[in-house]
Amino acid sequence: MTTRRYDFRSDTVTRPDAGMRAAMADAPVGDDVYGEDETVAALEAEVAGLTGKASGVFLPSGTQSNLIALMSHCGRGDEFIAGQDAHAYKYEAGGAAVLGSIQPQPIENAPDGSLPLEKIVAAIKPEDIHFARTKLLALENTIGGKVLPQSYVADAVALAWRHGLATHLDGARIVNAAVASNRSVKELTEGFDSVSVCLSKGLGAPVGSVLVGDADFIARARRMRKMLGGGMRQAGIVAAAGLYALKHNVARLADDHARARRLAEGLARHEALTVEMPQTNIIFLTADGSVAKGFADHLAAEGILVSGRYGQQRWVTHKDIGDDAIEVALDAAEKFFASV
Ligand SMILES: *Cc1c(COP(=O)(O)O)cnc(C)c1O
Repeated sequence: MTTRRYDFRSDTVTRPDAGMRAAMADAPVGDDVYGEDETVAALEAEVAGLTGKASGVFLPSGTQSNLIALMSHCGRGDEFIAGQDAHAYKYEAGGAAVLGSIQPQPIENAPDGSLPLEKIVAAIKPEDIHFARTKLLALENTIGGKVLPQSYVADAVALAWRHGLATHLDGARIVNAAVASNRSVKELTEGFDSVSVCLSKGLGAPVGSVLVGDADFIARARRMRKMLGGGMRQAGIVAAAGLYALKHNVARLADDHARARRLAEGLARHEALTVEMPQTNIIFLTADGSVAKGFADHLAAEGILVSGRYGQQRWVTHKDIGDDAIEVALDAAEKFFASV
């Protein structure tokens, strides 16, 4: 019987530590809908600075942040281009279509997560009464834990600009991308009209995302936020956790990446597992059909939680996964494969 759980399902499962909770308890707050919460304002300015944008707006979730970005760039009958695998297309309950009357134009992601430039060009509609108006290109970095090649990002942004499209970056894990590629966040976000950054993933805050862009864009986004019910009052309590995370939890993302690498290399030693080597903190693997269920059941029995079904697993490292958890997971795999 194991009582301890090792939760590899997602980097969203972290708990705020004592330092973060103290920062939250001590945060000066006000009514942020009145623009009077100085902690929220400080967080918005911090993320705007980090990404090299003029303004930011604090939001309850990454999903709302992407939705507000899409609704602030596009109107009814407009269209955004995104990857088939993009969170903003595939994993947000069709919000842009449902709530924004915005048509998605998905195109297939290349294996490295990019959207091939020729496919983007082919998807852009000319002015014609038959077509939705193509308004926006949305990229995601990291995507499936992969860092987009920076030269590709520059080319894609330039292409969008040439075609008169706005650009949005779903940077839920952009800080992971920056740490993994040894570049500044600002370098990775350069040229994008808007960027969404999650504080509740690897950064380890309990709640929140910040959407950044120029002042006009953020003014529109604030109106959308109110409309969608995302206007929060003494939100400095949670914004303080975001500020704390940006101060204390950025450099340590390199530890998550190193642990993911070690875990992936260890798991890859088992012939029945096909493991994609991680660039950041997310590992995808496929277990052979003959052992898939047994392996999944064994992990669950050992208190090791992973995401996925049908032999496809996703393992994510994060702040609350230490070296001990990696050892436990590798030992559990060792024990299982020795017995089959
Ligand atoms: C998690 C995530 C989101 C959404 O964030 P929530 O806070 O869970 O709504 C958006 N985009 C990407 C790439 C994500 O990983």
